[in-house]
Amino acid sequence: MSIFTKIINREIESNIVYEDDLVIAFLDISQATYGHTLVVPKKPYENIFELDDEIAGHLYKVVVKLSKAIKKALKPDGLNIVNNNGIAAGQSVFHYHIHILPRYEDDDYIMFGYNHFEDYTKEDMTKLKDLIIEAQ
Ligand code: AMP
Repeated sequence: MSIFTKIINREIESNIVYEDDLVIAFLDISQATYGHTLVVPKKPYENIFELDDEIAGHLYKVVVKLSKAIKKALKPDGLNIVNNNGIAAGQSVFHYHIHILPRYEDDDYIMFGYNHFEDYTKEDMTKLKDLIIEAQ
């Protein structure tokens, strides 16, 4: 049983900010930024690849609702939505969840990616686009 299922079952304490039949949201214990919140389906899907349209749509509605509430309550300067899938992507709890990270001008949260634009030709990009289209 995942740590998030234990939170859903009230077997461990958390600060719950939203709950309905399908979804729960609570403060992330790490508070990477002030107001860092997790939105979690009650059914323990492991990652994004297991989600169906119905839960995906509902989850994102809750993410939008809580983002607006966090903006109103905490007045951050910005906000990131993050979801890690797999160890390579930094996932540490294997029960699907979406991070809401309010951002502040002076916070210490780091999100960084190098720009690899120059590594790809126009043909590489067309091939890449086609690979993704063909897989849908
Ligand atoms: P990830 O690395 O994307 O799998 O994120 C897992 C998140 O779960 C981390 O940000 C942790 O701080 C958070 N977390 C782990 N245990 C708890 C807990 N008991 N209550 C709240 N958040 C937790």
